[in-house]
Amino acid sequence: HSVFLYHAIQAGMNMGIVNPALLEVYDDIPRDLLEHVEDVILDRRDDATERLLDFAETVKGSKVEKGVDLSWRENPVQERITHALVKGIDAFIIEDVETARLEAEKPIDVIEGHLMIGMNVVGDLFGAGKMFLPQVVKSARVMKKAVGYLNPFIEAEKTEKQEPVGKILMATVKGDVHDIGKNIVSVVLACNNYEIVDLGVMVPPEKIIETAIKERVDAIGLSGLITPSLDEMVYLAKEMQRQNFTVPLLIGGATTSKAHTAVKIDTQYKNAVVHVNDASRAVTVVGDLLNKKSSAEYVAAMKKDYDEFREKFLKRGKEKSYVSLNEARKRKYNIDWETSEIVKPKELGVQMLKQLSLKELEPFIDWSPFFRSWDLHGKYPDILTDKVVGEQATQLFEDAQDMLKEIIAKQLLKPKAVFGLFEAHTINEDDISVKKSGKEVAVFRTLRQQLKKRDGIPNIALADFIAPKESGKTDYMGAFCVAIFGAQELADSYRAKEDDYNAIMAQALADRFAEAFAEYLHKQIRTKHWGYSADEGLTNDDLIKESYKGIRPAPGYPACPDHLEKETIWELLEVEKIIGVTLTESLAMWPAAAVSGYYFANPEAKYFGLGKITDDQVTDYAVRKGISKEKARKWLHPVIAEQ
Ligand code: SAH
Repeated sequence: HSVFLYHAIQAGMNMGIVNPALLEVYDDIPRDLLEHVEDVILDRRDDATERLLDFAETVKGSKVEKGVDLSWRENPVQERITHALVKGIDAFIIEDVETARLEAEKPIDVIEGHLMIGMNVVGDLFGAGKMFLPQVVKSARVMKKAVGYLNPFIEAEKTEKQEPVGKILMATVKGDVHDIGKNIVSVVLACNNYEIVDLGVMVPPEKIIETAIKERVDAIGLSGLITPSLDEMVYLAKEMQRQNFTVPLLIGGATTSKAHTAVKIDTQYKNAVVHVNDASRAVTVVGDLLNKKSSAEYVAAMKKDYDEFREKFLKRGKEKSYVSLNEARKRKYNIDWETSEIVKPKELGVQMLKQLSLKELEPFIDWSPFFRSWDLHGKYPDILTDKVVGEQATQLFEDAQDMLKEIIAKQLLKPKAVFGLFEAHTINEDDISVKKSGKEVAVFRTLRQQLKKRDGIPNIALADFIAPKESGKTDYMGAFCVAIFGAQELADSYRAKEDDYNAIMAQALADRFAEAFAEYLHKQIRTKHWGYSADEGLTNDDLIKESYKGIRPAPGYPACPDHLEKETIWELLEVEKIIGVTLTESLAMWPAAAVSGYYFANPEAKYFGLGKITDDQVTDYAVRKGISKEKARKWLHPVIAEQ
């Protein structure tokens, strides 16, 4: 297509659109032009070249001057500062702030005046949905730089520093290591003039309580990603009530929900409890909560809303019916073991993956969740041309690509993996016995769906995908852990330079690499180490859609929400000893950018959601596993039906 491409570029150049020295971002190319050019490049129609040349005629003369537009530098100083904050440009901020300082009576006036005026514009645009999170985090970076420059002058004059509008304690709860969400909310609140006391990750409840008292904070924000963290939040709410706290409690993080907050947390604490799952809402919610005039009214309305929500939710839950575990087992997913395809892995036993380059993982990245972590919703690559968030998504993606290149070139992150393939068969209906040289070396406990279903629809457990002992067949399964090391260090190095934007970016990219690694390794397993799908020829899109044969369910996810099974994986593969990934007391993996799970190869194996289970299964599970019912209930309770 080189001839077509040449025509397209020629036509583009004539229009002044494609300036080779300053290639435009895809999204900035006018839609109609883009369509014509793509028609040519992708050879979409026979008359594509003609049409493009005709189109070129119609726009000749309407030359678009791209290039870096510096006309805003001519504006008065306040406008320049506002522009820099809104656009997140830090190149001139010191210069502008210095100009403002020389004009101002006191250096503090620049913060309280110029910078706050600018940040208010940012806040308004963000609140109105006209500005998006990545840009706001960049604004915060400019703000920090400006304040950092002014602080020595303020201290020298010994005038009062600017009073924050409130002090917020932020913490990821005990046993949890995930903090992207917490960091984002902290940055956004900080740039709205809240003072943040960030206690980091894995924070014990005593420390949260103690710090809240000592620092006289105005609100407490708790974050967590894995289900055991939900209990920690409930515990904290109880403690706050017991110690007669009155400050509002904010709840956020991936597994948190309005339902859980309303049902489990709100009921423990008499004062405000609010579920806030995106950063733009955090600002308005905290503003309302801390507004002395209207907060009482706001909190009362909130409590009422949660009461009603809870009632409805519990009612709906009670309307669901469940079958007994025995009944569910009778309705298991039946595989015909006489005819089912079982492939013996080429390599049995535990192996470590060494010397893997990040470059090899890059093509396996699923980008859609990356945008989600920045509160931009949509599917990649369509999101790049989305009407609303396209421009912001494109900018974010470019920044991500820049960092990605650097991470790969300088090997700033290190992937490590361990996996094992074993003989296996099911026992006790729902357990999987794993063997090495004929000897049982581990037993995985699986949980079975108990929701009452229409006739003919099975109640599945992962064990259904492995041949039972009685079948007389030798079957196989696998387990794995992949992790990306170094994200914390990389993020910290940016934070040390007051660059939260890139710190959050580094964490988000490490998470992407971890998932890409899980995808990559799974492919290696299917095509090489196990080899049951030697020539599958799937594209990355197919992989994202899980079109591969077999599955890699991860403990803590819908098919197997029980985190305890990670302990069994850790013993079986000696994960900690071999690659150094550890488990916290809530069974979160450290480093946080990690995935662990099982491999099932049966062509009928599929991902599913367990749903809720009932008490009989909790008892049975405790007996099978040889643990107390109390312990079983503690770990399973997010999936136990409220009855
Ligand atoms: N492509 C997505 C995958 C997210 S799911 C991303 O890049 O973020 C994360 C992991 O959970 C997967 O790698 C897989 O191991 C596992 N998983 C997916 N669906 C599951 C289910 N229903 N039950 C158990 N584990 C699941």
